[in-house]
Amino acid sequence: GLGIYIGVLIYKENTKQQDLYLETELESFTSKINSILATYEVFSKYIFEETVNKPQINYLMYKASFGNDNEKSKLRQELYLQLKNNYKNITKYNFRQLHFHLANGDSFLRFHSPENFGDNLLSIRDSIRRLKEEKRFIKGFEEGRIYNGYRFMYPIFYQKNYVGSVEVSISMQTLVEVVSDLYNEFDLFFIIDGDVINKIVFSDKINNYTKSPIFNGYYFDKEVKEISITKAHIFNDKKLEEFFKNTDIEKKLQTKENFSFVKNMGGKYYLAQFLSIKNINNKHVAYMISMSYPEQYRNIFNKYFSIFILVIFIITISIISSLIYIKDKNKLKILSNTDYLTKIFNRVRFMEIASYELSRVERSSSTFTVIIFDIDFFKKINDNYGHNIGDTVLIELCNLVSKNLRKTDIFARWGGEEFICLLTDTNIRGAYILSEKIRKKVESFKFSHIEKITISLGLYQMKKTDTFIEDIIDKADKALYLSKNSGRNKVVIY
Ligand code: GH3
Ligand code: MG
Ligand code: MG
Repeated sequence: GLGIYIGVLIYKENTKQQDLYLETELESFTSKINSILATYEVFSKYIFEETVNKPQINYLMYKASFGNDNEKSKLRQELYLQLKNNYKNITKYNFRQLHFHLANGDSFLRFHSPENFGDNLLSIRDSIRRLKEEKRFIKGFEEGRIYNGYRFMYPIFYQKNYVGSVEVSISMQTLVEVVSDLYNEFDLFFIIDGDVINKIVFSDKINNYTKSPIFNGYYFDKEVKEISITKAHIFNDKKLEEFFKNTDIEKKLQTKENFSFVKNMGGKYYLAQFLSIKNINNKHVAYMISMSYPEQYRNIFNKYFSIFILVIFIITISIISSLIYIKDKNKLKILSNTDYLTKIFNRVRFMEIASYELSRVERSSSTFTVIIFDIDFFKKINDNYGHNIGDTVLIELCNLVSKNLRKTDIFARWGGEEFICLLTDTNIRGAYILSEKIRKKVESFKFSHIEKITISLGLYQMKKTDTFIEDIIDKADKALYLSKNSGRNKVVIY
């Protein structure tokens, strides 16, 4: 019971530690991603201030926002030529997009795809709608017509008029690559909600994505996936699939919230962490997944497991040592309730029950009688037939006596070939009748190997003045002594 109790306590503590571990790991993973994003944010601001936020560009955007198509076309050309080299430079630092939009939300110039322009993005890209309304810096993950990415978006003003916006963004591919290079303790994967892709991506660009066979309803961006697999050193596709088999991953994905868990695979503990990626409107649209084989987790587990084993060990040892009783100086004997040979109660158990019975009887009008009996000339049996046959006699004698007692009587081996009975609710008259019956039965019983044995019996009925069970037994023993001395095979009352 104690073992189970302590086991439960340790299990609970272990679970608590595991939860804490999962929590801190997820926090650490989140901050790793966020710190990289923050770095890019600062960098994007620098790009904006140094290359875009210049009077001539602001003026160009102003003219474009209010000019006709022809003028727009010329201005686009001009903007392209002016920032072509800057764009080329920033792509070296992993920025993917430099995208200008007019005040009405039309795409004005995509440096990554200059031939695609003029489409209005207000209804597709929340970020552009919000920029038009709020006229302030906005950032976040957003799926686009062509690319997805983490976007940093700046409003453009000309003489305090909102004349459009520009987006400097990095691809998720970049993010995965940079994070993977910096932290090689985990493999990084990125999955996007299928609804987002079906709603937003140009239909001829949808083949940039592939449905995930593991994460139902989610897609991999093929390029991001390629990076993930190239950089991964713990998991490959097959191992991922195996890992998520028989987990409730589908249910967890539906929460659209951060989650993490540890699973044992092939005797090793792996940690899966899912970081919800929110779009500009703080709506869940994707997951950044970290897969790792954390040493610390094993340590936590091992720590608690070894404490558990240690406690179980200590409990076991203390139970065993309390069961071990030093009988001889050199001889250890395990005490149990029953006598090893005859399977009736042993002396220790008898004393326990008899003491309890005495205290019970003291408070009532009830009584009991104790019988002690000893086999007559047992030494001779051993000498003539051998110790083994002597043992058989003891067993057979016990069976015979047991049959003649009531269930409520306590029958025990007192030692050697001496036995003791406590007859509950029995006075000396009843005990004498029973003792005589037993004496005669033994006398006439045909044992397996020998003709006949006899026993001598001593009886004593407890009195209200008796306070110790030892004294009661002692008086019965004195009666037994008298029985032996007066010719054996007799019942003597103290
Ligand atoms: P009496 O009691 O009639 O005076 O004579 P006794 O020969 O029975 O004498 P005593 O009680 O002193 O000797 C008991 C003998 O019982 C001694 C021992 O060898 C034997 N004995 C005690 N325990 C066992 C046992 O577990 N198995 C066997 N085979 N013999 C035992
Ligand atoms: Mg004897
Ligand atoms: Mg004896």
